[in-house]
Amino acid sequence: MNFKPKQKKELTRASELSTMLCSIGDMTWNCTGSWRNMRPVIVQDKCIHCAICWKFCPDMAVYIEDNIFKINYDYCKGCGICASECPKQCIAMEEEGK
Ligand code: SF4
Ligand code: SF4
Repeated sequence: MNFKPKQKKELTRASELSTMLCSIGDMTWNCTGSWRNMRPVIVQDKCIHCAICWKFCPDMAVYIEDNIFKINYDYCKGCGICASECPKQCIAMEEEGK
């Protein structure tokens, strides 16, 4: 089973504006940009596929593809919640750009 990240929606009609404004709290609309200073990196061979990181990520940035847990860095804010909650401590928070 794959849970791919949602695609960013483009506003194509004025009538969609109200939907967009109502969804302003949905982080799938908002790419992170360049301000993240830490990024989570999953050490795949320690991962037990428990999905806790996927459940806890407030930005829906963790997804599953081919039974591998991955981070969508377009949306990850670098908060570190996934790393804190991972029961196997297999998510390392690394400095961005290193
Ligand atoms: S660092 Fe935060 S935003 Fe990024 S994947 Fe982990 S929980 Fe989600
Ligand atoms: S919380 Fe840790 S062990 Fe569980 S799926 Fe995520 S990376 Fe793997």
